Amino acid sequence: MIRAAVYARISSDDGTALGVTRQVEDCRKLAAELGWQVVDEYVDNDVSAYSGKKRPAYGAMLADLGDGRIDAVLAYHADRLTRRPIELEHFVEAVTAAGVRHVRFVSGGELDPGNGDGLLVLRMLAAVAANESAGKSRRVRRKLDEVAAAGRPHGGSVRPYGFDDDRITHRPAEVAVIRQIVDRYIAGESVTSLAGWLNTEGITTVQGGEWKTTTLRGLLRSERIAGLRVHRGEVIGPAVWEPIITPAKRDKVIARMDAAANTGRRTPRRYLLSGLLRCHKCGHTLYSAAREDRRRYVCQKGPDHGGCGGTMVTAPPVEELVADAVLYRLDTAELAAALTGRAADDDHAAALAEQVAADRAQLDELAALYADKAITVREWMAARRPIEDRIAQTTRSLARITRTDALSGLVGNGEELRRRWADLNLTRQAAIIGAVVDHAVIGPGTPGARVFDPNRVEIVWKL
Ligand SMILES: [Zn+2]
Repeated sequence: MIRAAVYARISSDDGTALGVTRQVEDCRKLAAELGWQVVDEYVDNDVSAYSGKKRPAYGAMLADLGDGRIDAVLAYHADRLTRRPIELEHFVEAVTAAGVRHVRFVSGGELDPGNGDGLLVLRMLAAVAANESAGKSRRVRRKLDEVAAAGRPHGGSVRPYGFDDDRITHRPAEVAVIRQIVDRYIAGESVTSLAGWLNTEGITTVQGGEWKTTTLRGLLRSERIAGLRVHRGEVIGPAVWEPIITPAKRDKVIARMDAAANTGRRTPRRYLLSGLLRCHKCGHTLYSAAREDRRRYVCQKGPDHGGCGGTMVTAPPVEELVADAVLYRLDTAELAAALTGRAADDDHAAALAEQVAADRAQLDELAALYADKAITVREWMAARRPIEDRIAQTTRSLARITRTDALSGLVGNGEELRRRWADLNLTRQAAIIGAVVDHAVIGPGTPGARVFDPNRVEIVWKL
């Protein structure tokens, strides 16, 4: 575990002074993110790093570095450490002598003072430190944090539905709409049906547009309408505005939404080519839609789907045709050739898998820090998010590379697979097709045609 010292300083040469508490807080957060342990905090109040006056805490930190108890130094920004080049040289001397390998700033990356590049960057940072504009965007961000902590709203380009431009005053007409749709949703009506109702009633969004289910879902589950203040994704307490619905009602909305999402995943797959077919006219993905027991793929209009509404095809013959073409392709030389390019992918996949493992280890380390009470639950959550995002992204890349694993043992065995095809379940069939087919374009149908025209299907191969 890397033991870190945090250094913070506030002074009159800052213009808008950055609170020492905030600096220390951000450094602690960064430490938690990195899995470092903060062993000491050094704070100088009201001492300019430019004046050359003595800074007691700074001096103490440099002295402590000599004891070898500290592996890293964390500060909010290079300009906290020093603004005088000569002092910087002292600092560099002290950290290199003490074998401190990490100097890290909340705004800016990792520096290794032990190598020439790190030193150069440190010197450049010190040179830039005098530049007031460099700190501007950081201060704006800090300001938002402070505003959020006080429960006040902050600006954005579009006012929230239900509220005036001041983001506090209710708009009675919109408040009535929100209360009605929340009640109807809790009573069991679907988001799609509610969005349809709003659009038929001519009730528009804040920007005057039609309601998409995603927009409506976002409104229904928003913390804001329940009078809760959120910052960087977390509820941080009651807001200054009046709630439109009670937090208890919001809990019911969330509960129903989560339940719906769960059962949604359990619905068995009924459409072999979901997501694989595209409309020849507008290029949008066709959606599965049944009418009176006839399964079909349809280009759907409307704000949710964005298609042109001009293409429709009956499901069974297309599914049969595409599956047949895939089985045939499995036995072609073209496919075998495409698969020989996979060795390089395997190395890449191994590297990605390693990265996921490392990220998971870091999450475990964070959890341990939280268990040891070295960090608060909010620091823990904040530190987790970027790592979890990274894991999700890496896993997606990994899935893309390893998708062809669905084909292992099948290449060259298309004929045999054809005999077993009907016995495979739909998920397995879809995985095999998805490994070989990128997408298929559905062309125009002949009006009144009773027989499916195979020329309507143009398959674009992935492999
Ligand atoms: Zn279309």
